[in-house]
Amino acid sequence: MSANLKSYIQKSMGFKKEVKPLLHETYSSSLIDWMKEHAFRLNVEPLTFYLAEEFGFCYGVDRAVELAYESRKMFADKKIFLTSEIIHNPRVNAVLREKGIEFLSLNNEKLVEDNFKQIQSDDVVIIPAFGTTTQELDKLRDIGCTLVDTTCGSVMNVWKRVSRYGKDGFTAVVHGKYDHEETRATCSRVTQYTHGQYLVVRDLEQARYVCRFILGEINKETLLSYFSKEALSPNFDPDRDLKKIGCANQTTMLSSDSIEIADRIQEAMVKRYGRENIDQHFRHFDTICSATQERQDAVRKLIEQKMDLYLVIGGFNSSNTGHLVEMASEYGPAFHIQDPSDVISKDEIRHKLPYVKDIHITRDWLPKGRVKIGVTAGASSPNRVIEEVMKRVIEAAELRMPPFVSTALSEGKS
Ligand code: SF4
Repeated sequence: MSANLKSYIQKSMGFKKEVKPLLHETYSSSLIDWMKEHAFRLNVEPLTFYLAEEFGFCYGVDRAVELAYESRKMFADKKIFLTSEIIHNPRVNAVLREKGIEFLSLNNEKLVEDNFKQIQSDDVVIIPAFGTTTQELDKLRDIGCTLVDTTCGSVMNVWKRVSRYGKDGFTAVVHGKYDHEETRATCSRVTQYTHGQYLVVRDLEQARYVCRFILGEINKETLLSYFSKEALSPNFDPDRDLKKIGCANQTTMLSSDSIEIADRIQEAMVKRYGRENIDQHFRHFDTICSATQERQDAVRKLIEQKMDLYLVIGGFNSSNTGHLVEMASEYGPAFHIQDPSDVISKDEIRHKLPYVKDIHITRDWLPKGRVKIGVTAGASSPNRVIEEVMKRVIEAAELRMPPFVSTALSEGKS
């Protein structure tokens, strides 16, 4: 990896001590710390906030943000670029931009050639937690710049699996979003092998099409016309490439869906090739990361406690946040919001609808009387934003923080 690069950095640059206070000052929350010490609850009559037991920044995001801050310290006089958003959180990205870090690609757009042309060998380029494609890495290697690679270990685990599929002649069927940075990077690990092929399936419905093809119920033209071109490797031929399948998934998908997709495809392959031959035709590794799994499990616990509504905080383009909203929305009103300004008033809330990209304003979102509000946040949401959202709800409802909480917070006690 490091050949030609000026320097390839994956670990702390020795500035942890300096950046910790900065990170704490920008992203931590004494209210969240207090809630953790008090059964994850905050009672502001007649509202009770129930915080999920796992939420917010994951280990991969913690590390990526810390390395970005360290890079700024280490390379104070150099130009620093990020290949895309470091994580899907507008607040965190805005802070990095304020620190003079430039973004080469935004909103999932493919990197454009021109953006790379501005990088010089003296510059520093940060790879975000989702990683980047092998093609982009090759370009950076050619430039010979300094690379700070914050790719999460759980993402690399997916790459390891799909690389193995590519090497062994198994087509990687990836449960994910073909335009998500992580999945684009994953697919590029497959096509680095001459015969490596991939197919990205977004949901159970798309997986059903794959199964129907395997079972001979639809022909390849129907299958190819159903999937977007970007979801398939170039020259993908279903007749040739769906005889041996290895399933994997984007780390942030809904784990129950990923498991069901793999099960359905396995079932179709068993029907087609026989149970005795299945090992030659099907492989599967669950590559949901533990942080995603824990956040989804914690939402299930909130659901068991029967909330009146759910506030799910995270970037509108955050995949893992979107899945938390989808889960909660099956059991009650679930509002995906980015920050406190989305709580317009006690009568109106701006939020992204589950399953689609539409932003919507819902009226009368906060019921009268006693209300149990389930609160969680995606893996890229800082605690500070969660605190601000709860404070905003309290303010919008014309309530006040209980004095004993305010006192504890002002005294810095939890
Ligand atoms: S969500 Fe999972 S894979 Fe993504 S950065 Fe966090 S720990 Fe890593």
